[in-house]
Parts: sequence; C-alpha cells; structure tokens
Amino acid sequence: MMKITDINSQLVTIPLITTFKTALRSVDRIENILVTVLTDSGQVGFGSAAPAAVITGETVSSIVGGIEHIRDNIVGMEIDNSEKIFQRLNSCIIGCMSAKAAVDMAIYDLLAKSLGIPLYRLLGGLTHDVETDITVSLDTVEKMIVESREKLNRGFNILKIKVGGDPERDIHRLQSIHEAVGSEIKIRIDANQGWSDKEAVLVGKELERRGINIELMEQPVAARDFDGLRYVRDNVTFPVYADESIFSPEDALELIGMRAVDGLNIKLMKCGGIYNALKIASIAETAGIPCMIGSMMECHISVSAAAHLAVSRAVIGRYDLDAPLFCSMNPATGGISYQGSRVCFSDSPGLGISSISI
Ligand SMILES: [Mg+2]
Repeated sequence: MMKITDINSQLVTIPLITTFKTALRSVDRIENILVTVLTDSGQVGFGSAAPAAVITGETVSSIVGGIEHIRDNIVGMEIDNSEKIFQRLNSCIIGCMSAKAAVDMAIYDLLAKSLGIPLYRLLGGLTHDVETDITVSLDTVEKMIVESREKLNRGFNILKIKVGGDPERDIHRLQSIHEAVGSEIKIRIDANQGWSDKEAVLVGKELERRGINIELMEQPVAARDFDGLRYVRDNVTFPVYADESIFSPEDALELIGMRAVDGLNIKLMKCGGIYNALKIASIAETAGIPCMIGSMMECHISVSAAAHLAVSRAVIGRYDLDAPLFCSMNPATGGISYQGSRVCFSDSPGLGISSISI
C-alpha cells in the first residue's frame, strides 16, 4: 500500500526560444507550476500545470490555490484505490481543470511506478509512433514563410499554422506558405476562435477552390458557438476540429450529439487530466470521431503525461505536442524527448521522470 502524505507545488518561469503568437495571445516566457505528490513509501509522483487565462480562466495563483485545496482533500488516501482519489479530486472543487490535471498526472505517475512500468504500458501500450506537428506563430506572411522553412529543415513534416485574423489576409498567408513549402507537407490550420462562422466557410471554400490542401481546420469560431462550428463543418470539406470548445466529457457528448465536429483536440489542462481525457477518448471512439492530443504552452512534465496517454489510445491519432520544443529549459530529468518530429519514450517507470529542479 502507498499513502499520499503531502503535495507540494513550485513555480517555474521558462523563457521561450521564440515568441509564440496566436489569435488570442502572444507570449515570450511561460510560467508553469510543478507538482510533487509525496507518499509514505518514498515514491514521488510528478506533474505540472500551465495557466492559460484566456483559454482555461486559470492563473498561477488560482492553480496554486486549487492544488492546495485538492491536497487538503486527498492527503491520506491510498494510491491503490485510485478510483476513489480521482472521484474526490474531481468533486472537491468545481473548475480548476489545470490544477486537477497536475495532480491527476502525478497520481498516474505513482500508479505506474508502483507497478514498475512506464505509464503508457499501464494505459494500453505503445499503439503507434508519435510524430508531432510544429506550430508556426501568427505573424507577417514573410516571417511565417521563413519560420515554416526553418521548421521543415529541422525535420518536421506537419505544420500547424496559426491564423484567425482578417480572412482575406489569412487566405493569402496560407497560399504563400503552401507555395513555399510544397504540397507534400501537411498543413493544419488553427484559427483560435478568430473567425465568424461565415468567415471560416469563406476561407475554407477559397482554399478548396485554389487547391490548397488542409489536413484539418481547428477551432474556427468562438468556444461556445457550437452552432457555428456545425455550420462550418457542414460547409467545408476539410475536417473541422474543436479545441477551445471541448473541455469536458460533457462537451464531447454535446458536440458529437450535434454533429458539430469531425474531431476533438484533447488537452489535459482543459479536461482535468488523464482520468477525464480517457472518458473523452472513449466517447469519441464510440462515435467514430478521431482525436488529436495537444497542450498549452507547457513544459516536458505535463507533455510527457499527454504523450503517454496519446500513444496508448487507438482513437488519438494526431499529435500536437510541440510546446516543450519552444522552452529554453527542461525542469525534468527523464520523461519524453524529441528526435526531429518524433516523440521518444523512456522505459523508466511512470512518466519516466526521475527528478525535477528549477
Ligand atoms: Mg488550438
């Protein structure tokens, strides 16, 4: 038996190698909260949370406060009875999904460590290779072309292009990048809620007319505009993925029930961790809706958790796990690593992280 004795959190500030710009925000450094779950066996579970105020509503202080509240509710519980922990974790406070996610992944880390196996093995094994896309920030066309070429030279084959500004300008942007990189490169576009439903359809139809092949269009319209999402899905041929629209398993049920999406982008910081992400994945799989795994601007710790989840689920077949590649430092020893666009796992137990330091 292994009992939770304490939960600590510490703040780390990580400068980004390049500024990250979307239709919602521009950041040149990130603050992540690192979580350590201590047990009476001496085993330690690791997790982390990333505030993204304009997406999740969470800040550093709300996450730290949320973790303290969760700690007060689950200290003393047995890791072997994880279902009870996850029930308590999810019911002891409304919202605070990123705080929940950090503790949730640390519990999964401990569960796998208690069995002496990597977390992906506990969740279902290595079901496929993980090739991540890489994000090209929203910027002038010229800068986006330079950045796209630089990323292809580093071995990436899938570009996630940030759009969501003036539709005519976005069409020009995508046409120029498409011409610069060639048609064999997969392009995902993410408008981060930047368009109206009609603007999104205008962009989609024009890209189709010009023969610019887009693998998928992510979050064209406002997060709660599920009707708008359905309108876009009904009127463009590219798959339409929800991101900011899908936080919870309940959102997944609603979006799928409305036939509003072709796919879902699951992020641990939105859904509260692996426990709820598994529910979303099961709902999507049952409905025949594919999933992508993504992240906020997060460090290697929480992205390791997302990668372990993603690789073990057949329904999660697309990967947007590039955030650590923007970070100028890695607070974890161990965990995932990258070889070009490939995400590599270690065989060490749990998340594969042996220690964290800031
Ligand atoms: Mg997105």
